[in-house]
Amino acid sequence: MKLTLTLISAVLLSADAFAWGPHTEIAQAALDAMGADDPLVRQLGPDAKRLAPYAWMADFRQSLLVRADEVFYADDYLLFPAATRHYQHLCPEVEQTYSPYFRRALQAIRTESTHNASRWIGSLLHFTTDTGSPPHAARIVGPTHSKMEGWVDEKLIHLPGYQPQLFGADDASAEAGFLRRMQGLIEFSKERAQRCRADVDGDRRAAVEPVVLESALETARVTADLLHTLGVLTAKANDDDATLTGKVIVPKIEHATMSRLPAKVVLLGTSYSTLTEPDGTFTFRHLPAGEYRLVVIAPGRVSEAKPVSLAAAATVTLEPVDLSQGTDGNLVRNGTFTVRWVSAEAFDHWSLRSLPGKLAAKTPVRDWDGEWIPLQSGVTYHLTARWKATAADANGPQVFLRTKAKPDGGSITTDSAPVVLGTKEVAVTGSPEVAWAQVCIRTSQSPDTVLEAVSLRQALEK
Ligand SMILES: [Zn+2]
Repeated sequence: MKLTLTLISAVLLSADAFAWGPHTEIAQAALDAMGADDPLVRQLGPDAKRLAPYAWMADFRQSLLVRADEVFYADDYLLFPAATRHYQHLCPEVEQTYSPYFRRALQAIRTESTHNASRWIGSLLHFTTDTGSPPHAARIVGPTHSKMEGWVDEKLIHLPGYQPQLFGADDASAEAGFLRRMQGLIEFSKERAQRCRADVDGDRRAAVEPVVLESALETARVTADLLHTLGVLTAKANDDDATLTGKVIVPKIEHATMSRLPAKVVLLGTSYSTLTEPDGTFTFRHLPAGEYRLVVIAPGRVSEAKPVSLAAAATVTLEPVDLSQGTDGNLVRNGTFTVRWVSAEAFDHWSLRSLPGKLAAKTPVRDWDGEWIPLQSGVTYHLTARWKATAADANGPQVFLRTKAKPDGGSITTDSAPVVLGTKEVAVTGSPEVAWAQVCIRTSQSPDTVLEAVSLRQALEK
């Protein structure tokens, strides 16, 4: 396990957060086996090298990734209309991810920029490579799980001479071939888990490592086949498809990190979405001709849905979508609860926290959690809520901030005083202990029935 973030999550969260150490090495071994002339490597160009680090994507759920060259929310590559929630990475639940993420990655390579496509492929690679971890395949949890998957020498994960295999010549047969290959991988790694289990429990690491390495190598072969197949399939383009391009002018935000967050562009009622490039532009290639409605989401702003008509083989360039006017520095995405692209039953960029079974049965009150937002040290932020007139309820809804020191999923959190009907706002000041904040809504009704909007923004200088 190389990433502290993952390690801490694995210790403090439930079984779904267990992390198979060598995601990066497995993906890299697959890329090395494919070589520079493989169709996918050629299509992705310099972004192909991002696939290995992006193979961790699904372990970053609900997190903001902040790197030297990019800032983005991992959930923008994990939640979409065909996958409306987070999945466990253990069998059997992880098996539900194969089809939707395979299709979504294929779609991304055909329609989105190479950088966006690499991130979508990263999500698919995470579920694929986690499956090959012996305890993930054999559904083993607890201390045996962590030891078993951790006991492998990453430096030995290479596939000299391996020729990546094609799962199928068209989308449907390739998807079926992928599902069969994954069932084979599960059987392969389950058998290794059973074979080394007694040695794991007896702390005989030297006996375990070669067995787990067999799984890592087989996982790398499956990964090479998968990436090779994606590249071959995307080379088959449809001449009748259209291209849609545009540009987004994002709200000006006085925040070192959040000002670097790209805007998100979605086509309502479809699985098409993308994040803008650093210059604000976006492109969808290979869209089927038809009528679309485009929405742009940035912190504090959601655009009006814009009708877009695409004729066959057309290239349409939209007027710039300007979200910079009349903004107040709000850092919350979809704070007006208007976007329901992922699911009609929920709100994009908000997640309904599941309560423990007994508690859930006793109370209709639910918590809706916003995305984690980094706070700048020494800067004061105001949380405000604009209630609907209908929200006048005696033990009514609350909006509060949950804060923590580190981005890790396992970090200890603190809840602020709530904003309720009658209170104007709550203030928090960023510090090493209060470095991340999440807006939380506690209500027995749907948030959009009690709230017009919520906002977290930097206090104006006095
Ligand atoms: Zn995982």
